[in-house]
Amino acid sequence: QAKRKGKSCYQWFQERFEQQMLARLYMEKGLREAIANNHLVLHYQPIVDLVTGTAVGLEALVRWQHPERGLAFPDQFMSVAEESGLIVDMGQWVLRAACQFGKELLDNGKELNLAVNVSVKELLQADFVDQVALVLSETAFPSRYLELEIVETLLIENFSVAIPKLRALRSIGVQISLDDFGTGYSSLHYLTELPIDIIKIDRSFLAGAMESNKQAAIVETMVALAHRLQLTVVAEGVETEEQRQFLKQLCCDKVQGYLISKPVDQAKVYELI
Ligand code: C2E
Ligand code: MG
Ligand code: MG
Ligand code: MG
Repeated sequence: QAKRKGKSCYQWFQERFEQQMLARLYMEKGLREAIANNHLVLHYQPIVDLVTGTAVGLEALVRWQHPERGLAFPDQFMSVAEESGLIVDMGQWVLRAACQFGKELLDNGKELNLAVNVSVKELLQADFVDQVALVLSETAFPSRYLELEIVETLLIENFSVAIPKLRALRSIGVQISLDDFGTGYSSLHYLTELPIDIIKIDRSFLAGAMESNKQAAIVETMVALAHRLQLTVVAEGVETEEQRQFLKQLCCDKVQGYLISKPVDQAKVYELI
């Protein structure tokens, strides 16, 4: 009896494993086609200056416009993109599309920074810096308007390889943001050595800051620390007026979140700004 049960249990896992593998392969195939067939779209979320209250930048966020299944969000496909290496091609597409849009806005008199998320796999490509320079020149988008956002944890795990790349990017005029700041554990140790311009406080800190004095103290300290290091600080995930006021009091530089706007498509950007 036990033996039979054990065997069926094994079979069950085996089948589940195979199903998951197939689903992943299927997703990978779909994603590859989506990149080739231009089924990706960028949505843009405004980043607002806390003093003037005006939009000074946009963060480009990728979506997969599936012909049958509708709009898919990064949490549904980013892990497959990362693990399969498709993130490299996807990242190239995203960078080019964002720079093209940034240039279009400039030509219409809208001077906005464009923030583009970059995965560490992309950054570690041997020719990444050259590719960025190429896209900037081909789209005629001035490098000073481009910000590349890199997630803190992954950057620190690849510290020694990443540093020279970040330096090279900054030397061509691109700004570097440390995304999801505070979610890593060794951040303070490395913070002084990272060649960065901007810190983005992860939204998990904001969420708790209104309920707990201790959480509020952490946000306050992050803003102060960033300023001591002469970095610009952006708070992500600002959803309430109360949070915005709190950040304004702390002299946080910029905010981004549903309070101002959800990420919107290209056409809506013109209505917003
Ligand atoms: P992220 O770079 O930290 O982007 C912020 C995420 O928070 C976005 O989710 C945005 O829609 C969401 N968000 C903004 N304001 C609020 C708010 O007030 N409340 C809440 N609850 N959420 C808010 P999204 O677009 O689903 O993207 C998730 C993550 O996927 C991004 O986090 C980024 O790490 C990654 N990602 C998105 N686009 C790209 C891309 O083109 N390339 C790469 N490598 N990663 C990307
Ligand atoms: Mg980001
Ligand atoms: Mg973030
Ligand atoms: Mg994030």
